[in-house]
Amino acid sequence: MELIEIPNVYNSDMAVSTAGRGRSAVIGAPIVAVDLINTVAAPGSATRQDLLSADGGAAAWWRIERTRVPGGDLPDVLALRRLRSTLRDLIEALIDDRSVPQRTVSDLNFFMQSAPTSTRLQLTGTGLRAETHWHREFGGNPQLAFIATQAAEFLSDPSKVGRLRRCANPACSMIFVAVNPQRSWCAPGVCGNRARVARHYRRARG
Ligand SMILES: [Zn+2]
Repeated sequence: MELIEIPNVYNSDMAVSTAGRGRSAVIGAPIVAVDLINTVAAPGSATRQDLLSADGGAAAWWRIERTRVPGGDLPDVLALRRLRSTLRDLIEALIDDRSVPQRTVSDLNFFMQSAPTSTRLQLTGTGLRAETHWHREFGGNPQLAFIATQAAEFLSDPSKVGRLRRCANPACSMIFVAVNPQRSWCAPGVCGNRARVARHYRRARG
């Protein structure tokens, strides 16, 4: 996981109100879905600033994520936000051990069905090449279908679901995948440090 500064994504009011923290996107989770749901979260903060609704925010986010998703026209930001809210509701239900809302499952299926894939063979000078072909004729968007499919495969594996965590800082709204099972902070440099400092301070006052 990595914190990326996105200059010019936030307008000055938002930058001031979040003391600069809101200017960062957090990326690099094993599935793009987790990066996406964290566009309404900020390390060390309960404030939910929507990175995608800021001027140029969605375009900046896609520039960061584009190597992880299929190419082509970017989806409408409203569709991207709908997928985000579906994923956020579904993933929070799994983390909190609540029953998963049927609506979120239907929504995810909708995103996948509306841009399915097939394998397409191509003749090359030396033989054959197999490529994934995204079907756009059903009206869906390959980037959204990819994020939904990658999430569906991850979230249907209980050993992977067990690695989804909320940050251990109660004031923090971030969700992450603990590749290292010991990990309890979204970003060690933000929430982890703060917790260490607080512990040290308590001990010092002893
Ligand atoms: Zn945190």
